[in-house]
Formats: sequence, structure tokens, C-alpha cells
Amino acid sequence: DLHLSGITKRFSSFVAVKELDLVVPSGTFFALLGPSGCGKSTTLRMIAGLEAPSEGSISIGGQDVTGLASHQRPVNTVFQSYALFPHMSVLENVAFGLKRKKDKQAMDKAKAGLELVELGHLANRKPIQLSGGQQQRVALARALVNRPQVLLLDEPLGALDMKLRRQMQLELKNIQTEVGLTFIHVTHDQEEAMTMADVVAVMNGGRIEQMGPPRELYELPKTAFVANFLGKSN
Ligand code: ATP
Ligand code: MG
Repeated sequence: DLHLSGITKRFSSFVAVKELDLVVPSGTFFALLGPSGCGKSTTLRMIAGLEAPSEGSISIGGQDVTGLASHQRPVNTVFQSYALFPHMSVLENVAFGLKRKKDKQAMDKAKAGLELVELGHLANRKPIQLSGGQQQRVALARALVNRPQVLLLDEPLGALDMKLRRQMQLELKNIQTEVGLTFIHVTHDQEEAMTMADVVAVMNGGRIEQMGPPRELYELPKTAFVANFLGKSN
């Protein structure tokens, strides 16, 4: 499980995240939902080890990771911008996250990763020769290939047009079910969070206003903010 205990993040005097307590059971598709500036990315970056909390601790699978550098944590991150290496093939991009990337074993793992996102047939292309949705699937395969316990996704579909976005939502959900990892998916799109996640946390002003299964949030919103935010399609 992923545990956040008393997590606060200050940027000088501004408090971006306030006393966050959170438990995400292993294998959960968890969405962090909320308006721009509410602290979603900051929370994700602290889990990733890209930002240090001002207070509090983080543990993953029973291990306290608060003091660990990003590469020492059992996590990987997929950002909105895919950040694929343009001079490498698709297969080499996926293998990049592995130790001894040129080994046969690494190449086999990378191929299996590409099969998972149904891009095995495009292994030798360069990223520029792929569509936006295909590039995002390569980024996903690269993030999964070294078997993290937790995958962090920050608006992973944000750069895609609406039709492709809806299609990728289904794909991403299927992949998560298949691999059975914990996904922490950040989005400001309530429809995306509500259709994909097992559990949704609605954030506002650095705090979680309410957390629960999508149905429960729809039917029993605890605050006006939650009711309004879920009611409007943005
Ligand atoms: P969006 O949906 O726009 O991506 P978000 O919920 O991801 O928003 P964060 O990026 O977590 O928001 O930012 C939360 C708040 O913290 C914002 O007010 C932001 O301006 C502030 N903030 C984030 N990073 C820094 C920083 N390095 N220095 C100062 N303030 C920061
Ligand atoms: Mg953000």
C-alpha cells in the first residue's frame, strides 16, 4: 500500500499541500481530481521523490521512502509531454529504463512491454513517426517496463484531442487491470476521473475534500465544492 502521513508542502510562505493523510491499497486505480493549482502535481511529485515534503512521511509497500531519491523509489512517472528520445527507436526508448539496456533479456522485456500496449509492430520506428496516442503508449510502456509498484500519471492524456482521449482512457484502464499495479492518476477532468478510477480524491486548496468510489461521490457529496466540481463538465 501507499501511505502519505501528515504531508505538508510549503513554497516559502505559501502552503501548496496541507496535512495530507492518505492510504491507497495496492492495485487501486486512484484519481487525484481538482481544479488548477489545488496541489495535484505537487502531491504526485512528492510521491515520486521529485519534491521533498516540508512535513510528513511517505511509505510504499511498508518501506519508508521519505528520504529516498526518486530513482531509489519503486515508482515511475508518466507526464503529459511524453519526453521520448527522438534519436532512439521506439524499442530503445522502452528499454531505456532498464539496466544493461542492450542485453537480450532487456530487449525481450522491452518487446513484452510494447506488446502490452499493442505496439509490437512499430518497435523499429522513431517516435516522430508515431501518432500522439501511440507516443503516449510508448511512454506508458517505458514507465512500466522496470516493474514499479506504483505508477504516477500527471495529466497523461492532456495533450490528446477529446476523441482519442476517451479511447485512451479505456485503454489505460484495461492496462491497469492487466498489470494490477497501483495507478495514481492526476486530472482536472471529472469525467475522466469518474470513469476510470476505483477511488477518487477531490482536492481543493491543498486539501482532500472527499475521497471514495465515484458512485459515492456522485450520490453523497459531502461539500458544496465537491457537488459543484462533479456537476460541471469542464
Ligand atoms: P494544474 O491542474 O494547473 O496542473 P495542480 O493542481 O497540479 O494544477 P500544483 O502544480 O500542484 O497544482 O501547484 C499547487 C500550487 O503550488 C499552485 O498555486 C502553484 O502555483 C504552487 N507551486 C507549485 N510549484 C511551485 C514552486 N516550485 N514554487 C512556488 N509555488 C509553486
Ligand atoms: Mg498539475
